[in-house]
Amino acid sequence: VRAMTEEIDLDRLMQTLMTLLLERAGAQRGLLIRILDNNVLETQACAETSSDGVKVRRVKERPSATDMPLSILSAVMRTGQEIRTGKPGSFSPFSQDAYLVTSGAAVMCVPMYKQAKMVGVLYLENRVMPEIFTAEHSRIVRMLASQAAVSLETARLYAELLEENVQRRRVEKELRASQTSLMLGERISNTGTWRWDIDQDLMFVSDEYARILGLPDRQRTISMADFLMLVHPEDYQRISRLVTDSVRNGVSMRAEFRVFRPDGECRYILGVGNPVGDEPSVAEYFGVITDITARRQSEDAVRVAQADLARVARATTVGQLTASIAHEINQPLMSIVANAGASLRWLSREPAMLSHARTSLEEIISEGERAGNIIRGLQALTRNQTASRSRVNLHHLVYHIVALSRSELERQQIALQYQLKAQDAFIYGDSVQIQQVLLNLIVNAIDAMAGIHDRPLTLTVSSLNPEPGRIRLDITDTGIGLSPEVQERLFDSFYTTKEQGMGMGLSISHSIIERHAGRLQAAPGERHGSRFWFTLPVHDEQGEQGE
Ligand code: ADP
Repeated sequence: VRAMTEEIDLDRLMQTLMTLLLERAGAQRGLLIRILDNNVLETQACAETSSDGVKVRRVKERPSATDMPLSILSAVMRTGQEIRTGKPGSFSPFSQDAYLVTSGAAVMCVPMYKQAKMVGVLYLENRVMPEIFTAEHSRIVRMLASQAAVSLETARLYAELLEENVQRRRVEKELRASQTSLMLGERISNTGTWRWDIDQDLMFVSDEYARILGLPDRQRTISMADFLMLVHPEDYQRISRLVTDSVRNGVSMRAEFRVFRPDGECRYILGVGNPVGDEPSVAEYFGVITDITARRQSEDAVRVAQADLARVARATTVGQLTASIAHEINQPLMSIVANAGASLRWLSREPAMLSHARTSLEEIISEGERAGNIIRGLQALTRNQTASRSRVNLHHLVYHIVALSRSELERQQIALQYQLKAQDAFIYGDSVQIQQVLLNLIVNAIDAMAGIHDRPLTLTVSSLNPEPGRIRLDITDTGIGLSPEVQERLFDSFYTTKEQGMGMGLSISHSIIERHAGRLQAAPGERHGSRFWFTLPVHDEQGEQGE
């Protein structure tokens, strides 16, 4: 019995138990049947005496009528009492059991208890006549059964523990593997992860996070306040407000911002955070930060290049245009001046030489007409740029042009405000021409704010649908504003107050908008600066142009 309690390996335990049972009870055959959690019966060991000792097999099967008298098993299960049958042939409630009838065995079936709970059944049979199971056998078997119940349970727990250990090691290994790939992924994508426990106000951060922000070697936690200290002063307000608002409303946050690392280096960061759980008050955020410095730098380079290009393009077209206008108009003008001088001289003769004077005046008329033709030709030139019209979202054109101007806005520290509220923003038009108008208006606004240092500089782009079927776009600045004199002549060709100006931008813009069935207008701003706006018909999906 001692031997049995020391056994902890389930296989060897069963072996020992069954051998002991068969030997002590003088049985030829024995089964160990256990009651599983869901009250299902399972035969787990089957032992038989042979010439060279007891043979034990581990099995896993339902008890069946070919193995044992099921009527006895169910009676034991039902009553919880041991059952012994006597000599075959002697009467008992089970004499009719087919197994007993065919095998002619005497059997003993003993319940196994562990702490008053039935956990299994030991079944023994004896076919050797006339020996049958005695009360002494029964005592030994019951004792063994209660010992076995405890040992088997311990062994089972132990086996489960072993299995659990194996499992745990496997999971640990997988976890380590996935951690490694996560770290690699973070390194490759320049992305660090963070988890923010709001109650403790502590962010737990990954290695890559620490690397991106340049945290000291072992530091893997940071408070939100300390994190915000790293944020660029110009971005600080925006980011701290975003954090506060997101936490208050329990919503996700996302922002691009700059940080100053402790070593003084400035990095561009894209940060994203998601609340965890859906309780009314969020206690935790999970998120990532990505170092987008390289991307931003190349984007900025592209933007500067594009803006330069746009400026150059604008300057060269205007420049070329003026040069050719000057050249073309100059000749008729000189001829007019010359002929007018000649006419004066013919008229001042005594007597006046009227026919000569007439010839000169006729010359003047025809030169004047030539000049007029040139100007009409130029107008046609600006008007007849092959227009290719399509359905475009005016807001998209705005974003594009503002992006071109972004570096200029930043350089002059002009704040940009979008109030694009129009629901219907699709127009039908030539997107190149409309962008030309937008660029003109924005460049003018920037120019108008160039010399101003005593107030905040703001460029506002807003839109709305003033009535169904129309969209209105406003560009306002806080620049020098419009004097009545300027306001009157703004849209005139060649009217400019700028040293380098050509005075063509607004007149061309005006005609472009007119050709799109709209109107470009200007007015002084409410307090400072000026407001330029135009309205255009919106274009609905059916291809109908509202009017
Ligand atoms: P340019 O920009 O070459 O001068 P424009 O036709 O675009 O030609 O503008 C004509 C004039 O209108 C400018 O010289 C300037 O005096 C005035 N103007 C245009 N936009 C603004 C503005 N946003 N604020 C003040 N004045 C403006």
